[in-house]
Amino acid sequence: MEFSSTRSKELRVSFRDAVLHCLPSDGGLYVPASMVDLRPFFLYMDSETTYPELVATIAPVLLQGELNPISAARVAESAFSFEPELKRLDANLSVLELHNGPTGVFKDFGIAFLAAVMEELLKPSGHAMTLTATTGRTGVSVAQAFKGRTGITAVILYPEGHVRGLDPSTFVNNGGNILPIQIEGTFDDCQRLIRDAFEDRPFAERYGLTSANTINVGRLLPQAFYFLYAFIKIKKELHGDLLFSVPSGNFGNLIAGLYAWKFGLPVNGFIAAMNANDTFGDFFRGQSFVPHIPVRTLSRSMDVGNPSNYERLAAFYNEAPAVMKHMVYSERVDDEATLAAMERAWKRYGLHLDPHGAVGFAAAERLLAGDIEDGHVVVLSTGHPAKYADLVARVTGKAPITSEVLENLQKEVAPVAVIPARLDALESAIAGAL
Ligand SMILES: *Cc1c(COP(=O)(O)O)cnc(C)c1O
Repeated sequence: MEFSSTRSKELRVSFRDAVLHCLPSDGGLYVPASMVDLRPFFLYMDSETTYPELVATIAPVLLQGELNPISAARVAESAFSFEPELKRLDANLSVLELHNGPTGVFKDFGIAFLAAVMEELLKPSGHAMTLTATTGRTGVSVAQAFKGRTGITAVILYPEGHVRGLDPSTFVNNGGNILPIQIEGTFDDCQRLIRDAFEDRPFAERYGLTSANTINVGRLLPQAFYFLYAFIKIKKELHGDLLFSVPSGNFGNLIAGLYAWKFGLPVNGFIAAMNANDTFGDFFRGQSFVPHIPVRTLSRSMDVGNPSNYERLAAFYNEAPAVMKHMVYSERVDDEATLAAMERAWKRYGLHLDPHGAVGFAAAERLLAGDIEDGHVVVLSTGHPAKYADLVARVTGKAPITSEVLENLQKEVAPVAVIPARLDALESAIAGAL
């Protein structure tokens, strides 16, 4: 399968180019250029199939000619020491827990695949450098996924006061390949610096710069895999419609689910579950989307006013308007309803949810009570409840199970360099560290 730009169907590149160059020259974003029918490959799988097995089987079909089955098996094994877990709650409701990775959020899945597949694509002697802007966890996820990967240096940019949870033995100054740099500025300054670095063509080419943020389709594509995984785990007990409730902020998971449909997933609908930042609901109701300043809610990672995946959703809409109109439902869940959902999930099912998962849970309940009586909704649990231990304990009366890994995320670490928010300073910090 090739990849095209959201702004031009004619522009076609390989997966390798899409991953290693990240942004098409026309200013759009890369998206899968065609439908690939994966049904012959996953329909025979059953609840015994493991996640690495599923990935190793379907990735080489999707990326035919670029990733052979042996390489794909190596990628799947080295990426996934953690798996999604499907928990069936009752006849109409399940949760797909995606918070079992090293940082307790679903983003670990896309990042882990990206790191492993990049190493494979660069063999035998290529090199690349990923740039990532983060205020915390994504940095830990990137460092975990990229550490020790041959041919790759992972540069992680932090705003002031945010470098936490990294393992200094993986840093470039200790012989590793992870380079955390703190910027004297804000998160926006970090993002601006990354854009500027990409625009400095000679610099970008010398280091083979690419991004490990979700603009990289190599991180988005593998998110389609866990929708297929949920299906094979549940298909035996499935009678009516299958829907997914997707807690959404930047809409990476939602677009990945739509790609899974494109690859043959027998799904009847998606719920775009949003918190108070739901102006995107207008878009799903067929109106135009106007970016806004986000308000702060309990489900912070979904406080996004101008999602970068808007461009991918709009491109999908042009391609398949009927799917968008009839298969995507939007729900707005405010903080009060989020807390009530956390409490109900605990009382009814003994299930702890974080506020993000609870938005998805509340939206699923609403749909089941109304339009969809005979359906089964799979709620994506995108974040680990232990990250919100105090809140979860207060709402449910019981502290969630925590893990040492998640506690270590809070430990402060000294970055390799602290620099002013200027491109020349970034470039010399990178040159000096390698
Ligand atoms: C990033 C994040 C989301 C939002 O996911 P998108 O794919 O950006 O819509 C939801 N929940 C948690 C816990 C997150 O970290």
